[in-house]
Amino acid sequence: MSDDQMRKVFDEIGNRRDQLVTTLQELVRIPSVTGDEGAVQDRVEQMFRERGLEIDRWETTRDEILPYVDHVGDQPRYEDRPNVVGIRRGAGEGRSIMLNAHVDVVDPGDASFWTHGPWSGEVVGDLLYGRGSADMKGGLVTFLMALDALEAAGVELAGDIRIASTVGEEDGGFGSLGTILRGHRADAVLITEPTKLALIAAHAGSLVCRLTITGKSAHGAMRDSGVSAIEKFIPIFQDLQNWEADRNRELQHPLFADIANKIPISFGYLRSGEWHSTVPETLVAEGRIGLMPGEDMYEFQEQVRQRIMAVAERDPWLWEHPPKLEWVSGQFAPSETKQEEPFPQALMAAHQRATGQPLPVQGAPYGADMRLYTYIGEMPCVMYGAGDVAVAHQNDEHISIADVKTAAKTVAALLVDWCRTT
Ligand SMILES: [Zn+2]
Repeated sequence: MSDDQMRKVFDEIGNRRDQLVTTLQELVRIPSVTGDEGAVQDRVEQMFRERGLEIDRWETTRDEILPYVDHVGDQPRYEDRPNVVGIRRGAGEGRSIMLNAHVDVVDPGDASFWTHGPWSGEVVGDLLYGRGSADMKGGLVTFLMALDALEAAGVELAGDIRIASTVGEEDGGFGSLGTILRGHRADAVLITEPTKLALIAAHAGSLVCRLTITGKSAHGAMRDSGVSAIEKFIPIFQDLQNWEADRNRELQHPLFADIANKIPISFGYLRSGEWHSTVPETLVAEGRIGLMPGEDMYEFQEQVRQRIMAVAERDPWLWEHPPKLEWVSGQFAPSETKQEEPFPQALMAAHQRATGQPLPVQGAPYGADMRLYTYIGEMPCVMYGAGDVAVAHQNDEHISIADVKTAAKTVAALLVDWCRTT
């Protein structure tokens, strides 16, 4: 496509600030905390229909998920959590693409801590506020803006485009898994998670575990006749901290060079004891353990088990009462699409065309749906979008409207290049 035609598409996006803001506000104003995505998906389906997209809307069932439950976790609810895929068929002979955005959001917490209400969509200057504005309804609007601009400029593409609006990302990725199991495939997948307009070509994994330690209760005044589960947990915890430091030194990856702690081991929940003067007989600790791209999730789970058991073997009590290790909820495997591959290269060229600047390439320390598309769907997948993950799960989450426009320009240029014009 000539630079003149491309310029026309970019101008279309540049001139649509009002439409962008209204569309994003509409989506932000429909609360869609993970598990409760029905209402927002109704509106998304409508938005797809208004654009003449072919619609596939369905609910993924528990039976379909069960063989993959290690990856996404069992869901508290399966009903009224539809995925919606909008398809624009190409004229043929082009490469296809899947554009993915999740519509579920994390709970906003106490709304009184927000300066601009979590469901307000309030605009101040260049910023649009609200839960999900950055993570990642802004990403869905990015796709719509790109499609609208191409349409308005009369651009026809050869390859198929699928926009997958999915549920349940924040709790393991049940919606994206369902989309893959439904049979939706493409030559590449782009997720517009808030990456601050950088290309995320790799992300670390996060395995969620529950560790149960058994002690022996006794009156606190005679604590030596009991065994404190808390005291038995401490050496295990310290050993895991040492392991985290060792692994951070040993595991090197060019995209993670700037990240001080690439594979955090963090316990977010501890429960132990019944009474101040009773030696606690059980302790339950739940946490997340990070792993790097290239590490196999199941092999790593076994390494974690061996590491904990090695501590237990040095302790006579734990030797006889071994800690119990379980993997609970969705497990985020790590994922990487090599930046030399055609799809990341195409995205870099598109960003350059849209902004005149080279595209920074980075790794991310958090898990995302990307792993499901690469690992289970076996499609190249990367992330790139407006918004900053640093504000994503916080009060006063917001997104830069100018950055959404930039991301939409990049996506439009990517579609033109990847799917080819007719
Ligand atoms: Zn997200």
